[in-house]
Amino acid sequence: MSGTQGQDTRQDAPGAGQPHLKPGDEAMAGTPGTGEDLCPDCSGTGIRGGQECPTCEGSGKITQGIGGG
Ligand SMILES: [Zn+2]
Repeated sequence: MSGTQGQDTRQDAPGAGQPHLKPGDEAMAGTPGTGEDLCPDCSGTGIRGGQECPTCEGSGKITQGIGGG
């Protein structure tokens, strides 16, 4: 059974201050039950392999769920 292809991979123009999910994010920043954490791929440096870390997009931080329980 083939999956449904309903995802549009168009790229919107980057707007200033517009929130978006980084590859390493589990949720949008500010989402209840989530919090900022150091990027596990670059350890918060924002640099990975001499380049901008793709996981956190160079910010060194990602948004993860912090659900306790
Ligand atoms: Zn990173």
